[in-house]
Amino acid sequence: MTLADRNHQGIGMTSQRTRDRLIQRLQQQGINNEQVLDVMRRVPRHLFVDEALAHRAYEDTALPIGYGQTISQPFIVAYMTQLLLEEGNASSVLEIGTGCGYQTAVLASIFPQVYSVERIEALHQQAKKRLAEFEIYNVQLRHTDGIEGWPNLTYRFERIMMTAACGEIPEALAAQLTPGGIMVLPFDNGVDQTMTRITRSSEGLISEALEKVVFVPLLPGLS
Ligand code: SAH
Repeated sequence: MTLADRNHQGIGMTSQRTRDRLIQRLQQQGINNEQVLDVMRRVPRHLFVDEALAHRAYEDTALPIGYGQTISQPFIVAYMTQLLLEEGNASSVLEIGTGCGYQTAVLASIFPQVYSVERIEALHQQAKKRLAEFEIYNVQLRHTDGIEGWPNLTYRFERIMMTAACGEIPEALAAQLTPGGIMVLPFDNGVDQTMTRITRSSEGLISEALEKVVFVPLLPGLS
């Protein structure tokens, strides 16, 4: 049973009505993939943030998760997930930047196999505990530097999602994309950040610039 199948009803500011209003807002902003909308409606974002912030969980805003990091804005989670689904579903996804594990849980409700890495050990441990509590079993988490990709070089992914901004595309990571595979990442040119879609075609990597975005930076090494 996945998290999205379970009934995590909230009350007041975390009630289904409040969540439905967020979904309507996402639709108005151009999220039209039914699978994404359905999963976003059901995954309880309020259980991925500190209790003191739970009442703000269904506002379309990023929230602090400690250690100087943030849980991405719901629109961004929906938008990036939708981008990964545009060319159809895929069997495996690698996420760089587990954070609180919310985006990971959304991915796990859609893709059969999800891999996610986080450089901050405390966040990694917390996400591991949380996803286990929600009985999400199709996720593998690692405390490692995502710049190096998944720490098994023979493995390749059909989709890669990076949830922290980088100034260049990490080579080791791009090498873990299957032919035809798609990677989405916030690209930082030093002035601003742009959501970017990278596709591995037979001629090499094709890069497309999409929306302007704001993300925390991709940092090297472990913490
Ligand atoms: N998907 C997360 C977003 C967290 S913010 C969520 O929904 O909560 C981005 C995360 O990327 C942070 O937790 C940060 O610690 C992590 N991060 C930054 N650089 C990284 C790197 N090189 N390798 C792995 N994780 C990294």
